Amino acid sequence: MSQARGYAVHNDKDTLKPWNFERRALGKDDVSLEIKYCGICHSDIHQARGEWGNSMYPMVPGHEIVGVVTAVGSGVSTFKPGMLAGIGCMVDSCGHCDSCRSGHEQFCRDGKTVYTYNSYELDGKTLTFGGYSDHIVCKASFLLHIDERLYLPGVAPLLCAGITTYSPIRRYGIGKGHKLAVVGLGGLGHMAVKFGAALGAEVTVLSTSASKREDALRLGASGFVHTSNKSETKAVAGSFDFTIDTVSAPHPYDAYLRMLKPGGIHICVGIPTEPIAVNSFSLLDGNKSITASSIGGIAETQEMLDFCAANGITSDVEVISASDVNAAYERVLRSDVKYRFVIDCKTLAG
Ligand code: NAP
Ligand code: ZN
Repeated sequence: MSQARGYAVHNDKDTLKPWNFERRALGKDDVSLEIKYCGICHSDIHQARGEWGNSMYPMVPGHEIVGVVTAVGSGVSTFKPGMLAGIGCMVDSCGHCDSCRSGHEQFCRDGKTVYTYNSYELDGKTLTFGGYSDHIVCKASFLLHIDERLYLPGVAPLLCAGITTYSPIRRYGIGKGHKLAVVGLGGLGHMAVKFGAALGAEVTVLSTSASKREDALRLGASGFVHTSNKSETKAVAGSFDFTIDTVSAPHPYDAYLRMLKPGGIHICVGIPTEPIAVNSFSLLDGNKSITASSIGGIAETQEMLDFCAANGITSDVEVISASDVNAAYERVLRSDVKYRFVIDCKTLAG
């Protein structure tokens, strides 16, 4: 066992406060990582506040983790002390079902996907604690390799915001010749813009914040629609092949479906607390589809990190001290994030 220091909430009304807890002893197949940076995902806020109804406390959020390996178990050959490594949303799974063997550990058929926090280890009784902390012990096969040339704080959000948008973009082959709409310019949204543009798609941002127009264009979009401006939304009716919807709050799906071409596909990655409500005619008129996508498997996450290294892609981040995490949550909720907060984990000490 080792003593860890982190930030935790103890119930759904709590704010994050410093908290000391224990990490497991390094096992044969484990790696110990000194956490350098951890991104703040909107999912952290949903779960810290019990909005998905599955929260377990105390909770140390954080699943966008990058750091330096400090020790490896006797059975580990893929990492060595001193190497950079990352951890995303999962830290273990059964490893032998169809889903796990085909690289979709997030869909473990045995129901044994172990999430980085707010989850039980495979023993079914030990809670996992996430990356708002100074170090973590993790099975080596769930650790990702990071290219040292990339700006490390900007790599952390790739571990969730990156893979969650990269995965559906690759699955649907979105790229040259496609018109892609990205709904919501936050952590996930700005990564969807970067990936879509890097792969040659013509990207338009659909945003509730008129002030984000310039940023959208700088990030790689060629179009921007302020969704409360009726003439702007009318001008893009029937325009897009695909929509990646990153919105975290209830919103009107019919309005976005109207902007798809016939045969268009609306891909939900945002997880609002309300069920998705759609008028049937919004789908019937043009044989449109609405679907969803959940993070991405470990092999695909490595592929995404390698793609980022090859194309010089990182997240646009605002690095904060751990003591500013509650204020950062409030800014995320006001859609005032440019475009991901990342905790500098050395500020956890003391
Ligand atoms: P975020 O940084 O807060 O971005 C969400 C953006 O949605 C906001 O910046 C805002 O952009 C827009 N928005 C907010 N409220 C809105 C409303 N009422 N109507 C329309 N647009 C609104 O959040 P994030 O970290 O990117 O996460 C987004 C969602 O994805 C969360 O629900 C999160 O839990 C979920 N998520 C899912 C997965 C997955 O596996 N599918 C993985 C990670 C996160 P504008 O200012 O541009 O309108
Ligand atoms: Zn996340």
